[in-house]
Amino acid sequence: MSETTIRFDSFFHKSDEDCFDTIRKAKEILKDECLLLGHYYQRNEVFQFADITGDSLKLSEQAAKTKAKYIVFCGVHFMAEVADMLTSDEQIVILPDSKAGCSMADMANRPAVEKAWESLNSVLDADAKVMPITYINSAANLKAFCGEKGGTICTSSNAEKILSWALSQRQKVLFFPDQHLGRNTAHALGIPLDKMAVWNFRKPNGGLTSEQIEKAQVLLWDGWCSVHQRFAPEHIDDYLAQYPDAKVIAHPEACFEVCQKADVIGSTSKILNTIEASAPGSRWLVATELNLVNRLHEQFKHENKVVDFMAPTVSMCSTMFRTDPQHLAWVMDNLVNGKIVNQITVDKKTTEYANQALQRMFEITHAKAKV
Ligand code: SF4
Repeated sequence: MSETTIRFDSFFHKSDEDCFDTIRKAKEILKDECLLLGHYYQRNEVFQFADITGDSLKLSEQAAKTKAKYIVFCGVHFMAEVADMLTSDEQIVILPDSKAGCSMADMANRPAVEKAWESLNSVLDADAKVMPITYINSAANLKAFCGEKGGTICTSSNAEKILSWALSQRQKVLFFPDQHLGRNTAHALGIPLDKMAVWNFRKPNGGLTSEQIEKAQVLLWDGWCSVHQRFAPEHIDDYLAQYPDAKVIAHPEACFEVCQKADVIGSTSKILNTIEASAPGSRWLVATELNLVNRLHEQFKHENKVVDFMAPTVSMCSTMFRTDPQHLAWVMDNLVNGKIVNQITVDKKTTEYANQALQRMFEITHAKAKV
């Protein structure tokens, strides 16, 4: 066992194959002590080592259940924060590359959301009338804000349930940071577009008049995912002109115009399940992250299913891509040597309030529909 922490420099130039060996050996030594979680958007070189794979909802539920001492999260920063908040003080969450963030999550921060809340309070009684909902793709202190205000969190899998619940509790919703998920979900629930308003956080009062705030049922934070915003309705038109029988499936982080042209709108899990359940020989045009689409293409080609990526340019999540075999091997080798690198921790107060919002999310997600 090494006395000191192994520096990343010694892994920087290692080949992928050497790193694979290190990761395999570390997994054999650490056994059940270490759980490796892999988000669907991870590159295959890393994804292949995950003990559990899934989207944000599934992985957060798994993090809440595991007894493993170490949770190595092959995802992005907000996911590791969620895992830390849902596990005990003794469990340690590690993000192989600490710079693996989410550009969408960075579009909302606590001071900006508090300022928005103050502005809303100058027009109406925000605490009584507005339910704050944050997408899970957000910093822990925004989840805590929602917990403090009686609000909750959603993922792309449960957004409809969460938004329905929110609107059954209060007149309006402030939805952050992804305007597209908010708009697509609200529209699916039958809320007209003229009852939604974009909150431009760079402008006073979100760039809205008091009348516009009063009229809106859903206030959409002006944030977006840099990956999913690259898909455009023309991509669908061009593809269908060539393959008229193809089906289109889009993640709800894609813009409204793309989702309106899609046959199916859904989270990464829904995309996977829908293509899996489709008839052999079917053809799909998919609007979501490239690594997932490429994996689906490989997974289903033996059934003669064709799974094509929607954008003509490469569009992958560059922050997920930061987690490479070198970083994974580095953190695993350190664990074998009793050293912890890149631990992600959230302070107690933030955890307490954020967990209120997370627990509320789990309850709403798993509540049985009333008959
Ligand atoms: S795909 Fe978009 S929303 Fe998802 S982690 Fe990457 S930047 Fe964030």
